[in-house]
Amino acid sequence: MIPPSFEYASPKSLSEAIDLLESRGEGAKVIAGGQSLIPLLKLRLASPSFLVDINRIPGLNHIEESEEFLKIGALTRMAEVEASTLIREGYPAIHDASGVIGDPLVRNLGTVGGNVSHGDPNNDMPAVMLALGAEFIAAGPAGERTVNAQDFFLDAFTVALNHNEILTEIRVPRRRPRSGGCYLKLEQKVADFATAGAAVQVRLAKGGECEEIGVGLTAVGLTAIKARKAEDWVRGKTPFDRAAVQELARLAADESNPSTDIRGTSDYKRKIVAFLVSRAFGKACERARGAS
Ligand SMILES: Cc1cc2nc3c(=O)[nH]c(=O)nc-3n(C[C@H](O)[C@H](O)[C@H](O)COP(=O)(O)OP(=O)(O)OC[C@H]3O[C@@H](n4cnc5c(N)ncnc54)[C@H](O)[C@@H]3O)c2cc1C
Repeated sequence: MIPPSFEYASPKSLSEAIDLLESRGEGAKVIAGGQSLIPLLKLRLASPSFLVDINRIPGLNHIEESEEFLKIGALTRMAEVEASTLIREGYPAIHDASGVIGDPLVRNLGTVGGNVSHGDPNNDMPAVMLALGAEFIAAGPAGERTVNAQDFFLDAFTVALNHNEILTEIRVPRRRPRSGGCYLKLEQKVADFATAGAAVQVRLAKGGECEEIGVGLTAVGLTAIKARKAEDWVRGKTPFDRAAVQELARLAADESNPSTDIRGTSDYKRKIVAFLVSRAFGKACERARGAS
């Protein structure tokens, strides 16, 4: 299908882009890589009257570490994330996810900011950002504000951005010693969206117990899910025996709320969640033990 007609602007500054969003009202939409929005336009599931292309705005494409954060500019392409040595070595859950999003064509254009802003529960980055305790920086007419990942994903295809705001940066707490993460997803075929996915981030104490943990789930609810009960249960424990890991996985699966669809029944998906969480937890702990 041919998309409905729309007006288009390609501003060269953030303030110009925000002014356009503000003046054009709810009918205006940001476009970044277009990998989610263009298919929606072509299917006529979205019909914005005005597209604000943010690709020419400087300062939105970077991967850098500060004292406190890993900072990823919202316009950073998934392929750039995948190729980043800093991310591969320091933030392996992000690296894992960046390599399993769509195919190389999608990853060359699709941005990290677009992946989370779209609010698609089937997208892979939201669960990773929940597990890592990320923050999102939104710029709007009143300036900048920070939204925690756990407050960002409100409903299916609905995130905590106002129509006149642009996500500019994602901030992930800086890596610490003895921390590691992992993202795993089951897909029916290569480059498919997830049947289910699980992100786990851990920090181990010197004694080996799990000091910090984050668990995020993909494609098993209306939004990406933070598995709080599983996190609370494992915090402070040394859960390296099989029964303990099974309990962690069971709690996470209980917190999922999958629906039956072409990718499988809800029961099947819960079993997949349990399997992926136990595997991802094991890998995250292994990476944490190897991290300096
Ligand atoms: C064939 C195919 C396979 C795919 N497979 C996967 C997959 O396996 N896993 C996965 O996670 N995704 C997958 N996707 C979806 C897509 O890759 C991601 O959603 C993509 O990262 C979106 O980023 P984008 O820059 O293309 O966003 P766009 O399509 O440009 O925008 C998406 C939405 O986010 C908003 N938006 C974008 N950037 C900003 C910003 N900075 N501030 C405010 N709002 C913004 C737009 O207004 C729009 O509503 C696939 C897509 C295709 C076409």
